[in-house]
Amino acid sequence: MRKVVVIGGGHNGLVCGAYLARAGYDTTLLERDKILGGAARTEEVWEGIKTSRASYLLSLMPEKIKRELELERHGLEILERNPSGLSLFPDGSYLAFHGDPAELRTEIAKFSEADADAYPAYEANLAAIGRAIEPAMLRPPPSLESMPSLAWDSVVNRKLWDHRFTLTDLMGMSGSEFLDQWFESEQLKSVLATDAVICAWLGPQDPGSAYVLLHHVMGETGGKAGVWGYVRGGMGEVSNSIARAGEEHGLTILRESPVAQIVLDDRKRAKGVRLENGSYLPADAVVCCASPRAMCRMLDGEMDEAYEKRVMRTSYKNGNAKINLVLNALPQFTCDPPEDFLRGTIHISPTVEYLQVAFDEARHGDMSSSPMIEMTIPSTLDDTLAPNGLWVANIFTQYLSWEASDRKDAYRERVIDIIDENAPGFRDSIVQKEILSPQDLQNIMGLDEGNAFHGGMGLASLGPMRPVPGYADFTTPIDRLFLGGSGAHPGGGVTGMPGHNAAQKVIQTV
Ligand SMILES: Cc1cc2nc3c(=O)[nH]c(=O)nc-3n(C[C@H](O)[C@H](O)[C@H](O)COP(=O)(O)OP(=O)(O)OC[C@H]3O[C@@H](n4cnc5c(N)ncnc54)[C@H](O)[C@@H]3O)c2cc1C
Repeated sequence: MRKVVVIGGGHNGLVCGAYLARAGYDTTLLERDKILGGAARTEEVWEGIKTSRASYLLSLMPEKIKRELELERHGLEILERNPSGLSLFPDGSYLAFHGDPAELRTEIAKFSEADADAYPAYEANLAAIGRAIEPAMLRPPPSLESMPSLAWDSVVNRKLWDHRFTLTDLMGMSGSEFLDQWFESEQLKSVLATDAVICAWLGPQDPGSAYVLLHHVMGETGGKAGVWGYVRGGMGEVSNSIARAGEEHGLTILRESPVAQIVLDDRKRAKGVRLENGSYLPADAVVCCASPRAMCRMLDGEMDEAYEKRVMRTSYKNGNAKINLVLNALPQFTCDPPEDFLRGTIHISPTVEYLQVAFDEARHGDMSSSPMIEMTIPSTLDDTLAPNGLWVANIFTQYLSWEASDRKDAYRERVIDIIDENAPGFRDSIVQKEILSPQDLQNIMGLDEGNAFHGGMGLASLGPMRPVPGYADFTTPIDRLFLGGSGAHPGGGVTGMPGHNAAQKVIQTV
């Protein structure tokens, strides 16, 4: 039986390992940490409380992976949120994102009748583009040379014909410019603009941010496009369900087993790995599901120079900071939404300009004085996270730069103050709190520079360019060494797609 070693037990490494074991390979997965999942993990930071310490919502994982690995049978349960979002504005108004089109129409019409009319076509356009592009996410991207003819072909065979102008806008515009094509109300544009900047080192007025928006509306929950759900038990249950699927197929998972070196034979082919404890594991193939930078470090100078240079010079800059809280009461917002509206993501970033200023302040090594705030309270739908009377809250924020990480406590208090201004008494309801700066995300989860995507997701780092032109097919310049984490096509997010794709490449070639 062919032996494969997978480095990294993030959700992509687990998907890769599970597919390889299912295909009959003798597969061993090595994870540095004692907790599985990488950035898709549930952790008991405080005794008796489960929290999704980094990622907190699932949408981008294709049904194909969930179905083939039987993740539902292995414990994955997605909790749909309706309304999925609640945006708060300084004048005391709010916009609730209902799943029901008629209710959503009424909400948007509070701010603009024209926007309420335009929204269904906007949503349908993005969903259609997502559907047309999604199959390309589960195979190697086309080469740069073949792209013009493929693009022409997909237009001519009409898959994208009706959406060709929207697609061109998405590829070239800023999120803000793109949204201006569709809508007039600042309230609607500001909430949609958050998708254009999530986990990216960009503001919504910066070119390239429209593509980030498309990336974030591509997934589905319960067959509904663009819908993000909680995972019962926290995001670690995505990873744990994949691990259980893999183990059923014979995958061996070794925790607390950091790999120090990828070992090559005298023909410069990968032949195994050496762990930090000195032990050696031979393999017919090695798949690295840690970042491309981590892979180069594990090769200790043996990587092709041009490849390594490109990897090391790809930007990992980001301004993500995650605040996790335990509350003893639900927030009472002054705008007084019904209690079930607290199940969705509570957005505080009232204008597109607010988001841009937040980024501009952080761009040169500072932090936002008024950050983008996205608060979720998963305990409103999931009673497994905290004992009765306590609620887990996760606040995803931007932008705290790497350089400003040492001022993270002041940043956390500023975020709490902003929420408290909207919900007096919020600060007093906090019984536990932590903030993870980009530096913490690197130290705790192994994310280089705290980058959630294992490298930027600008157009120059996507498709045939990811991670390095000429190596977008999950191979590397080292024979028998493959890449299967978020640094590979189609990039970051809890999708499982890079892991799936790398496994298919191994199955075809090893
Ligand atoms: C704060 C935050 C919030 C986010 N929110 C969301 C969200 O809500 N929804 C969403 O879809 N995405 C979200 N993301 C992005 C998403 O979580 C990541 O893109 C994704 O989880 C990365 O998965 P991965 O398996 O590719 O890599 P990782 O999760 O980084 O896993 C890599 C694994 O490799 C291990 N490793 C590294 N080096 C070694 C070594 N030498 N030996 C052994 N093991 C090693 C690491 O410990 C880690 O477990 C968020 C990210 C962050 C940081």
